[in-house]
This record gives sequence, C-alpha cells and structure tokens, in this order.
Amino acid sequence: MYCLGIRVSYSANVVVQDTPDVARPDSQSFFPMGTGQSVDVLVVGGGPAGSACAIALARQGARVMLVDARTRGRDKCCGHCLSGAAWNILSQMGLRELVESAATGATRAVAWRSGARGFEMNLPALGAIIPRTVLDKTLLNEAERVGVRVAQPATAQWVSPGNVVVRKDAEEYVVGTKLVIAADGLGSGMARARGWNPASPGRKYGFAGSWRAPRALAHWPSERIEMRVVRGGYLGVVAESHEHIHVAGLIDRNSPVSRPDDLLDAAAREWPLLAAALQEGRPSRWNAAGPLPWKPTRIADAHTALVGDAAGYAEPFSGEGMRWAFESAYGLTSAWREHGGWSAAAAGTYAHWHGKHIARRQQKTLRTAWFLGEPARATLMCQAAQTFPRVASWLACRMTK
Ligand SMILES: Cc1cc2nc3c(=O)[nH]c(=O)nc-3n(C[C@H](O)[C@H](O)[C@H](O)COP(=O)(O)OP(=O)(O)OC[C@H]3O[C@@H](n4cnc5c(N)ncnc54)[C@H](O)[C@@H]3O)c2cc1C
Repeated sequence: MYCLGIRVSYSANVVVQDTPDVARPDSQSFFPMGTGQSVDVLVVGGGPAGSACAIALARQGARVMLVDARTRGRDKCCGHCLSGAAWNILSQMGLRELVESAATGATRAVAWRSGARGFEMNLPALGAIIPRTVLDKTLLNEAERVGVRVAQPATAQWVSPGNVVVRKDAEEYVVGTKLVIAADGLGSGMARARGWNPASPGRKYGFAGSWRAPRALAHWPSERIEMRVVRGGYLGVVAESHEHIHVAGLIDRNSPVSRPDDLLDAAAREWPLLAAALQEGRPSRWNAAGPLPWKPTRIADAHTALVGDAAGYAEPFSGEGMRWAFESAYGLTSAWREHGGWSAAAAGTYAHWHGKHIARRQQKTLRTAWFLGEPARATLMCQAAQTFPRVASWLACRMTK
C-alpha cells in the first residue's frame, strides 16, 4: 500500500519501508528451537523498549527470548534525537555508557520557526543524536551478550495465554512463556491480538530520511535541532554527522500536502541553508510510521505487557519517544523485580507506573501538538515564545519533566 506517497508494506503490524535491510553479519545467534520450547519471557520487538527489557530481565536471571521481524541494523522512522531527560533512567538501568557509545553528536538547543516568526531556546538537558541503525543494533548485541536468545528476522504471533507462535524462515514453533512483552511498536499486533487496540486509529503519519550534504553542513548551526512548521505538517532537521543531514516529520492524513518532499521543499523556501543542502541531494528513500497517536485500551495483564510505542505514543516533536521506550522498560522490569516475577499484581503495578510517569506526559504532548496543526497557530506560538522566552522555557521543561 502507499502512504505519504511512500511505498510501504504491512508485515504483521509493522509498517516497513519496501527497501532492503542492511545485511546482518552475525546471523549465528539464532537458536534453532524444537517443539515444546519454553522461556520465562518472550519479547516481541527489538527496538529500544524490547532490547532494554530483555537486557534487564536477563540480568535478573530470567530466561529471555527476543524475536524481531527485521534484520539487525535496520533503520527506523525516527528523528534520531535522544532527549537529555533519558540519561537518568539509562543510568539507573546500567545502559547509559552503551547508549552514549552509539551517539554521533549532541543537541543543546532547539529553534522553532513558522512563517516569519521563530524562537530558539536551550534544551532543558544536553541530548544526543543517535542513528537508529547503530543504537538498536548496539542494544541487541548487548542483549545477546547477557544471554538473551535473539531470533531475527522472525515474527511472533499471539496464540493463547502462555503460547506464542514464532516464525523464522519457513519454520514455525510454538514457544511457551510466562510473560509476553509486546515491544512491537506503533499499532502493536500483540495489542490487537489481545483486543486492546483503540476504537479509532490516529490520522497522522511520520516520515524520516537522510542525505549527504557536506558543503551546507560546513555552515550548519552546531548542536541545534531545527523545527519548521509548514502547511500540512512539521519537520525537524539535524546534522547527523559532518556529512549527513537527517530529517523527520509528520503529515496529517487530512492535509492537502501528501508527500514528505513537499514539506521539505516548503521549509526550504523560507530557509536558504536547507535550500542549499537540497542542491547537494535529498533523501533517496523515506521510512514511514503510523498512524498515530496510538493509545491501547489496556497495557498489561497476567500474561502480556506492552512497552514502548506499543503501550502508547503521542507525537514526535518533543523527541521523547525513545525516552518513553526506556522508561516503560524500566517500569516493567522494576515491577517484575518487586513481585519476584510476573503476575496480575505485577501487571497492576506496571500499569499504574506507566499511567503516572508516561501516559500523563503523552497527554501534555498531545495538547501542545494542537498548536502545530496549523502554521497560523504555530506562528502565534512562536510569537508568544519570542515575547516571553522564560515562560516558553518553563513550559518546555514541564512537558518533559
Ligand atoms: C517521525 C518520527 C520521528 C521521531 N523522532 C524521535 C526522536 O527524535 N527522538 C525520540 O526519542 N523518538 C522519536 N520518535 C519516536 C521513536 O522512534 C519511538 O518512540 C521508538 O522507536 C519506540 O521504540 P520501540 O522499541 O517501542 O518500538 P520500535 O523502535 O518501533 O521497534 C519495534 C520493533 O518491533 C518489531 N516487530 C513488530 N512487529 C513484530 C512481530 N509481530 N514480530 C516480531 N517483531 C515485530 C519491528 O521490526 C521493530 O524492530 C519518532 C517517531 C516518529 C514517527
């Protein structure tokens, strides 16, 4: 099917761009399984949420298997900016140094612009630029190092409480497990299999891509995220390295603008440096994700727990998605430790924790997103922030705290 003019295909619940994955060099890590295979925890999805859960539970002594539908080193539709607020939770999970090792740059400030108005402010904490091809692979390698059995590329499908079918190559296995952790991203197939999907899906789609533009990058503002609101959506642009620019954005399905390239061109009309960068090239392919926002009706019971995007996702502009993914992994594995394993009580503890620490912030993000829905509203927001910079900084801090 096509969305945003990009060819995408649905593999289970995953929106996957129709382009080849990066070849995985270390394919020997998949354990051939027989029938009657059983583990303590089966994690479905090898993004930040799934890998962080798998690592933490394996370190606690659980027998963990992780299944991911795509090849290691795959890209993911993302802005590649890790919010500085994530460092604390990563430290608590013993993952900070590992995640830092994947960073290609830092983010210190954000500049917003809509039409003739704009403002710039320092971020509440120093963040990082982290290409997902590197981050997700680094975390999966660490999961294997601490004893997690990783099956990839392989898909998982819910059958009944305690049983999941894993498909790898042409083979199918039933895996018995005490807990299924659904870390399978936006529109989670596991959540839908449990009947926890929301009644109405969101109507927005994300897109992301990179291109080489070394001449424009020589003049690029360092350590700054550039956000632009244009007709049809918004986009964020960063210097991912000395050679590559990375852009990610959002398009509303109801908007008259339907292609990421149209948004990029609209932003370039008011931004000469981006126009210069586009003379050097443009993304040859776009990764897509959506629809969003996504909010399942339930996130945990005695057999299943959703984490990361699968447990709920608002909008990308605040750059909090990976932080929420790590935080939900922290909340789930803390509940596991507190209850000595998984149970209905552990599920209740986790769901309460998620509601208090993540779902509330996602609500705030959605309220702010209203301003970005129309360039006229975004211009007003920029004007107000320009006039009252301290209030704008305070509000930005509140949204991420
Ligand atoms: C346009 C856009 C820009 C963004 N920018 C940022 C940003 O700058 N900073 C930030 O922090 N966040 C950003 N985000 C959000 C961030 O990308 C997500 O929040 C984050 O990737 C969530 O991680 P996850 O582990 O929950 O899921 P994912 O990273 O989506 O991983 C899910 C995994 O599950 C696998 N999977 C799915 N179904 C199955 C199945 N049935 N069997 C096996 N495997 C399966 C997939 O292959 C995938 O690897 C952005 C999002 C969008 C849409």
